[in-house]
Amino acid sequence: MLKVGIDIGGTKIAGGVVDADGRIVEKLRVDTPVDTGELADAVVDMSRHFAAHHDIAAVGVAAAGFIDRQRANVIHAPNIAWRDEPLKAILEARIDVPVTIENDANAAGWAEFRFGAGRDVDDMVMLTMGTGVGGAVIASGALYRGGHGIGGELGHIRFTRDGLPCGCGQNGCLEQYASGRALQREANAIADAGGIGTALAELRAQKGSISGPAVSRLVLAGDPGAVEALRRVATALGEACGGFQAVLDPELFVIGGGVAQLGEDLLGPVRIAYETSLPGYGDRPIAAFAIAELGNDAGFIGAADLAETARSGEGA
Ligand code: BGC
Ligand code: ZN
Repeated sequence: MLKVGIDIGGTKIAGGVVDADGRIVEKLRVDTPVDTGELADAVVDMSRHFAAHHDIAAVGVAAAGFIDRQRANVIHAPNIAWRDEPLKAILEARIDVPVTIENDANAAGWAEFRFGAGRDVDDMVMLTMGTGVGGAVIASGALYRGGHGIGGELGHIRFTRDGLPCGCGQNGCLEQYASGRALQREANAIADAGGIGTALAELRAQKGSISGPAVSRLVLAGDPGAVEALRRVATALGEACGGFQAVLDPELFVIGGGVAQLGEDLLGPVRIAYETSLPGYGDRPIAAFAIAELGNDAGFIGAADLAETARSGEGA
């Protein structure tokens, strides 16, 4: 049976036709429209394209926000102008098969658990480091949803008191310290403080604001300022993982999102911060850390796998 998964990201909408074993039959990527009103059009167009070429049983849509228990409405989205958005109803009015809405990090985490870095474990936590910080909790082989469907929002734990304001309305959230945006902010701050080395300051002088990909390139080139910026966000993430370990005790943390392209350069400082903030360190089993294997495809693969068909009850 084939299903469509569509992952609405900050810059790209990635979609694909996926079979029951998580294999991609066809995939597409388009730019995310700036106007949120055009988002639905883009998702509908992509679904219709796939449906014209394949026999599709359901569509799963991954979105960056708090999705209700019915997996129908976006209750709140910290970084998109969605408030109580009936996304399932809007899409089902224009698409002939059942549509399921899923949190983007849950979708990616589920895909990694079923078909990627987490396929050999039962208890796993996924963190995505992109515009925001997304979280997914797999506990005893099941996706943890909580009492209202919106559990596992790991990016919005309070990381520090009186901290930076967050799109969720709170302040000091982990997302403000461990996201791709945080990496960019730290790099710009290091440049403004006179830089560590000269590369960041030169880039800031040339381009104004330093972009996330530019910071990543400098990290890979070993620039000390960029490496320091990464160390700061990796430390925030690792410290939070120490806390997640205390609560959830996963066997594995899988790290995804744009920042995860930095691989071991990221995981090294994450592990150090994790171990040094782990309750009972030295006496207890600890978790492994891995970079997500399915990359930009994880969100749509997971959304497809979790999408309910007309017969319902399939997926997780
Ligand atoms: C949102 C999450 C989302 C994450 C990654 C966070 O700001 O609260 O729902 O999964 O960003 O997109
Ligand atoms: Zn927040």
